[in-house]
Amino acid sequence: FRVTLTPIRSRDKGVAGAIAVLQDVTEMEKLEQSRREFVANVSHELRTPLTTIKSYAEALDDGALDEPPLADRFVGVIRSETERMIRLVTDLLHLSRFDSRRNQLRRQKTDLTEMLEEVVDRFSFQLRQKAITVSVKVEKQLQTALLDRDGIDQVLDNLVSNAIKYTLDGGSIDISAKDNNAGQLAIAIKDTGIGIPKKDLNRIFERFYRVDKARSRNMGGTGLGLSIAREIVRAHGGSISLDSESNVGTVVTVLLPIVPEGSETA
Ligand code: ADP
Repeated sequence: FRVTLTPIRSRDKGVAGAIAVLQDVTEMEKLEQSRREFVANVSHELRTPLTTIKSYAEALDDGALDEPPLADRFVGVIRSETERMIRLVTDLLHLSRFDSRRNQLRRQKTDLTEMLEEVVDRFSFQLRQKAITVSVKVEKQLQTALLDRDGIDQVLDNLVSNAIKYTLDGGSIDISAKDNNAGQLAIAIKDTGIGIPKKDLNRIFERFYRVDKARSRNMGGTGLGLSIAREIVRAHGGSISLDSESNVGTVVTVLLPIVPEGSETA
C-alpha cells in the first residue's frame, strides 16, 4: 500500500486533522516488474545475435577473409543472425501494436476454408521439406466468419509454424474449424510433434518462454509467437488454449466469438 497524508489546517488552531489515502499498488508493482523483465529479456535477446555478428566480423577482419571457404561460412552466420534480429524486431513491433490497443480491428467476411488453405500454402515449402502431411476440415454450416484477416493470419502463421517446427519429419498436422455451439468459432491446430512437458504448460504463453531455448533458436524461433497469438486473439474477444503431451503431440485451440454480419467495425 502507498499511504499519503494531507494535513487539514483550520485558521486558528493550526492542524485540525489529516486525510489519509491508502492506495493498493500491488497491481502497479506487478506491471512495473513485468515491464522490467520484458526490457531485460529484449535486451538479452538482441544482444546475443549482435555479439555473434561482432565476433564473426572481427574474425573476417583478422584474416578469415583470405580463406574463402571459411569466409563464406562466417558471412553465412552473420546473415542468419541478422535475419534472426529482423524477425525479433518484427515480432516486437507486432506485440506493441496489439499492446497499445490502438490497433482497431478491421473485420471482414472471410471464407474459412480458403483462409486455412492459404495458411497451408504459405508453408508448403517447409511442409514438403519435412514430409509432413496436412489436413484442413471446416464444418459445413460454418463457411464464413467476420475476422480481422491480418490479425488472424498472423495467429495462424505462428501456430502452424510452431506445429511444423516442433514436429519430426513424416508427422502430420490437422487443422479444423467448428462451431462450438456456445457462440464461438473453434479453430484447432493439432500436431504429432515432440509435445510440451506438463511442467512447462502453464508458462508457455509468457513472452520469451521456451521449453528448449537451443532448439527454438535453431528453428528460428523468437519465443514470442504464442504471446503474439494470444494478444491478437484477446483483441478479438476470444481465447487461446494449448493441450500437449510429450512425444505425442500438441493441440492449440483458438476460440473466437462469432460476430453477426453488419458488425464489421466491432
Ligand atoms: P518460439 O519462437 O520459440 O517457437 P513460441 O512463443 O511460439 O516461441 O512458443 C514458445 C515455446 O512453446 C516454444 O519454444 C516451444 O518450446 C513450445 N511450443 C510451441 N508450440 C509448440 C508445439 N506445437 N509443439 C511443441 N512445442 C511447442
